[in-house]
Amino acid sequence: MIDTLPPLREIIARHDLRAKKALGQNFLLDLNLTARIARAAGDLSACDVLEIGPGPGGLTRGLLAEGARHVLAIEKDARCLPALAEIAGAYPGRLTVLQGDALRIDPLAHLRPPIRVVANLPYNVGTELLVRWLTPGEWPPFWESLTLMFQREVAERITAQPGSKAYGRLALLAQWRTQARIALTLPPEAFSPPPKVSSAVVHLTALPEPRFPADAKTLERVVAAAFNQRRKMLRAALRGLDGAIEARLARLGIAPTARAEEIGLEAFCALARDFAAHPPR
Ligand code: SAM
Repeated sequence: MIDTLPPLREIIARHDLRAKKALGQNFLLDLNLTARIARAAGDLSACDVLEIGPGPGGLTRGLLAEGARHVLAIEKDARCLPALAEIAGAYPGRLTVLQGDALRIDPLAHLRPPIRVVANLPYNVGTELLVRWLTPGEWPPFWESLTLMFQREVAERITAQPGSKAYGRLALLAQWRTQARIALTLPPEAFSPPPKVSSAVVHLTALPEPRFPADAKTLERVVAAAFNQRRKMLRAALRGLDGAIEARLARLGIAPTARAEEIGLEAFCALARDFAAHPPR
């Protein structure tokens, strides 16, 4: 037992929190597991934690029991608020709950750095937020780390290396400015109701600076073009960006016949720098 609050099954029954598919609700009921996920986020005792989608509060309880200084939880489903208020009562002054859509709420006014983000979200919302958190106007971002649950297949796309099928935009976007790894994988039965596929928790730590210099927008443009037609050779996939792409690639020592999935982060950054220094005519 990680706290003296009632078991999650009891809370869910008492507040009639039947999972709603439209809100992507698959709840974690095992508090040992939620404590493990909280630990994957590192030492939280000196951090504010932004939790998105607390639901009945299993992960929230894990975060608080593991010592988070303060948790700001944003939940769309108003039915969950009484259950979350009970948790706030058990941890006076350490949990703030906002009701609303995390895609529309700016949480920064409620958070004091250093900030870590932890979430078990519906997968579509999770990917959209991940991309936003990885592409802020300025780097380093507001967060030190992100600890996020995804479908296992998405987690593998975030951490993929060149040469693998999963390698693409998400891997490059994540790995350019973070250290990303899969912290744990979970079978469908860990959730109630169980989803169709396995899940995985990805832990991303913000690097102080990008691994290789490049302009973020140019890099995104080059990577998007390269992977939009991932089966094509680079000289064909990038022709839309530059009619003279073959010479540019050759000058940079990148084989024009290579495919995007064979090209590492360093070469993509070199390509982005070259585009910025020598824009196509
Ligand atoms: N964190 C809880 C757990 O681990 O048991 C619940 C996880 S459940 C997969 C996702 C939660 O995100 C649900 O409680 C759902 O209501 C909430 N949610 C869905 N869309 C949201 C959004 N746009 N903003 C905030 N919360 C959202």
